[in-house]
Amino acid sequence: MIRTRFLLLLAAFLALAAPAAAQKRIALSFDDVPRIPGAFMTPQQRTDRLIAALRRARVRQVAFFVNPGNLQQPWGAGREGQIAAYVRAGHVIGNHSFSHPHLSEIGAAAFIANIDQAAQWLNGRPGYRPWFRFPFLDEASRDIPTRDAVRAALRERHLQNGYVTVDSMDWLLDQLTSQAHNTGQTIDMNALRDLYVRIVVESAEYADQLAHDTLHRQPVQVILMHETDIEALFVADAVAALRAHGWRIVPIDEAYRDPIAAAEPDSPFLSSRIGALATAGGQPPPRELSPALNRMDVVTQAFNTEVLHQPAPTAPAPTP
Ligand SMILES: [Zn+2]
Repeated sequence: MIRTRFLLLLAAFLALAAPAAAQKRIALSFDDVPRIPGAFMTPQQRTDRLIAALRRARVRQVAFFVNPGNLQQPWGAGREGQIAAYVRAGHVIGNHSFSHPHLSEIGAAAFIANIDQAAQWLNGRPGYRPWFRFPFLDEASRDIPTRDAVRAALRERHLQNGYVTVDSMDWLLDQLTSQAHNTGQTIDMNALRDLYVRIVVESAEYADQLAHDTLHRQPVQVILMHETDIEALFVADAVAALRAHGWRIVPIDEAYRDPIAAAEPDSPFLSSRIGALATAGGQPPPRELSPALNRMDVVTQAFNTEVLHQPAPTAPAPTP
């Protein structure tokens, strides 16, 4: 009897200590800093709330990827202090280009000059890390000479690719929310929070499973977020939900020390590092590389029905 109880206890302990759950690690990153104002708060309120939310959620270190060119926009002027406040709170900053161009549109030379222009502002600042996050995650994956010219330029400058592995679709939720707000529609804020949290958790779980199946290990995931009102309002809820699903939130420094950080995958799917590695060297994708909730049409539909409580579109009658 005692022996049985001991074995049951041992089994329970081993289940708790299962490596699958223990190794789900994720770091947070926020792009487009300083970003256009959102629907609900001033940029200063947004920064204050975001810092407070991360502190309350015990998230020690995230990355803010800066577009110094935004400081020259009417809505970005004078916001250097907000960037410094993130760093004082323990977070780090990286290069997101000067003015957020599409590499595929402007070509390698102009793009590299844009990186250098941002570096002039960033180099030597407290909290700076030599990481480059591609705007739009556009690495010119189907234009090999352009892709490789930028890769060589990054190596020359000792800049590491600030890749992502998980998408939160927050920019789209922020855009839909602003549109609804500006047109006087009623926004169900609890439903907005729940939709955002669901996208974050499902996207992280999907990436974890994809890594498990294709890389046969669990790299530290890096989630793409933005400096939006959505994050200022709900990032602590997303963190709590991730933890409830067995995730450990780790500093972004730890994420970019992962072995996958050094890779330069030869793949047309460079917008997610795990998707890129899963398809490197011409391997066909084992399945969809991202979940349905990373699709714009799916998120927009969910927003309209769940957050704006619009009637769901009627499904077409099934064909016999
Ligand atoms: Zn961006």
